[in-house]
Amino acid sequence: MIALPSAGGAGSGLVEPVAMPDLGWTLWTVAPTGAASRQAALVAAATGLTGLALAFALAAASQKRQRLRAEQAMRLSLERRVAERTHDLSEANTRLRTEIAERERATTALRATQAELIHAGRLAALGQISTAINHEINQPLAALRTFLASTALFLERGDEATVRRNLQRMTEVTQRIAEIIRHLKDFARKTGPEHREPVRLASAAEAALDLLRVRLRAEDVTVDCRIPPDAMVRAEPVRLEQVILNLMVNALDAMRDAPERRLDLCAARATSDEPAPSWRLDVADSGSGIAPEHMAQIFDPFFTTKPAGEGLGLGLSLSSLIVRDLGGSLTAGNGARGAVLTLVLPAAES
Ligand code: ADP
Repeated sequence: MIALPSAGGAGSGLVEPVAMPDLGWTLWTVAPTGAASRQAALVAAATGLTGLALAFALAAASQKRQRLRAEQAMRLSLERRVAERTHDLSEANTRLRTEIAERERATTALRATQAELIHAGRLAALGQISTAINHEINQPLAALRTFLASTALFLERGDEATVRRNLQRMTEVTQRIAEIIRHLKDFARKTGPEHREPVRLASAAEAALDLLRVRLRAEDVTVDCRIPPDAMVRAEPVRLEQVILNLMVNALDAMRDAPERRLDLCAARATSDEPAPSWRLDVADSGSGIAPEHMAQIFDPFFTTKPAGEGLGLGLSLSSLIVRDLGGSLTAGNGARGAVLTLVLPAAES
């Protein structure tokens, strides 16, 4: 091969001698190889490119396979984690449900115990005033006996007008006895906090005063009851009566040795501090008041300053439990003379 001059620069060719014996010459033929070389180079380049493309394609395919494998592994692990999480969540859910059910059972049991306790407290309050109630029933019974005896006499004398008048009085006396018994029965009956209705504060206070009438008379207590007739609260009537009775009994106990015994009941709309429209009832007495060192304890169960046998120390704690249940509050303080217990209850319209 020799390099050949060409128009565009140096080229290359294949030199081959051809003997011409007749002429005694040797003819040298030069076949340029540029095109062939270019073709060969092109073929080589094409082959190279194809190889490269193939290699790329293989590499891409393998990479895709790897990516798919990785994606699948990731999906599997994700699914496993989701399944684990779902399992954990469902276990937590079951645990939560069990806890809620247990708590509901405990709350129901607690409510039942509280209701029993409140009822026991009411019976204890009745027990304390039973002598007075006994007297309250015995008095009209004695009056009835007297009326019966005198009526028989008036009948013998033919005094029809007096007989009629006596019969009327006897009817009134039996009505009074029936009323006391109905009242006692109502007061002693079991009630739940669920039952609430609009209650006239004045009626609840009157009912409690009624149960204490004998004691109020015997201890010469002046009662001043200023409760507007439109003072209506949302409450369970018997429990509300129980609270007011407890406050009154405490007031009477505190006034036992007082020179003047005054029991003031005063109701008014509660101030705007309350979250909902409410009524406030102040039960004030002219007793010794609450000693400052006792103020923080008087609502504690079994706290009492009364002699053994006279106080269990449950009145105020049960009362505040009832009032809280009704969505109200019970607080204590001292007034100008004795103690002032303040009961706040949601108004009936709230
Ligand atoms: P108890 O009446 O059985 O003692 P309470 O829970 O009703 O139980 O009252 C607790 C205590 O609060 C009483 O022992 C008394 O010291 C005090 N207390 C309650 N009300 C009054 C009041 N109106 N005046 C003075 N002290 C009172």
